[in-house]
Amino acid sequence: MKLAAYWWGGKRHVGRLSEDSSEVTPLAVGDAGQALGALAVIDLLVQGKSMPPNAGARLPLSAVKLDAPFPRPRRNIFCVGKNYREHAKEFTASGFDTSAPTPADAVPDVPIIFSKVPDCVIAPGAAIRLPTGVSEAIDYEAELAVVIGRGGRGIRAARAMEHVWGYTIVNDVTARDWQHRHKQWLMGKSFDTFCPMGPCVVDANELDARDTRVRCWVNGELRQDARTTDLIFDIATLIETISAGITLLPGDLIATGTPAGVGIGFTPPRYLQRGDSVKIEIDGIGVLENPVE
Ligand code: MG
Repeated sequence: MKLAAYWWGGKRHVGRLSEDSSEVTPLAVGDAGQALGALAVIDLLVQGKSMPPNAGARLPLSAVKLDAPFPRPRRNIFCVGKNYREHAKEFTASGFDTSAPTPADAVPDVPIIFSKVPDCVIAPGAAIRLPTGVSEAIDYEAELAVVIGRGGRGIRAARAMEHVWGYTIVNDVTARDWQHRHKQWLMGKSFDTFCPMGPCVVDANELDARDTRVRCWVNGELRQDARTTDLIFDIATLIETISAGITLLPGDLIATGTPAGVGIGFTPPRYLQRGDSVKIEIDGIGVLENPVE
């Protein structure tokens, strides 16, 4: 099952996509539910309730305007730093990595967890806005995001996949200079518009994202291309780590880290510029594309 949030007729809706993702059927989740996006449906299903009934006719996806599947997540998005070996090396080599003093320290021995504030989420197609005068070093990061279903604390890795409801895509947009200068990553990762998300949430019955392909193009040029089997810390380990002391909740999001090929990995760095377009595709989920303004 694929769930999407979208605008149609002046209102936000939550709907279920057709098998080929060409059409969407609105679901009856009430006015409060529409604001939650896919979380409205996931909350019901996690509580053991049945799927909400259809609330109208099926529409071609081309007739609606997609929103982020979680237009404003309930709390901060958990994120993982340096979770692909080649990216860990390129990031440390760039000189922007305050977490690793030497190249020998590039690959972390425990997951590096930080977060993005919920307010920086934007829809597919919405503009990533360059913060002119504040940072000139804005970078893209294509990432698989895990959507938690049943919550919990102290979840063991062996049972962790039972807590995964599904998956979506995020672009973990980053102001590299702020990430470096302020040592802690929250600010440079949370500027307004810095979390494009979508186009939908795919449930874990439909996609086993432990082995899928993540790609990112800037202006049509392929920059990132990896499989999630290359993650240093797999999804189960991330859930075990985060839930050790923090109770995970339905709808929590874990952005699992980005592969090699970000702008900072080039010499000289290739930061995002006005007029660029960043397109991310994860096999089994879809395409998330956003312009840069
Ligand atoms: Mg990232």
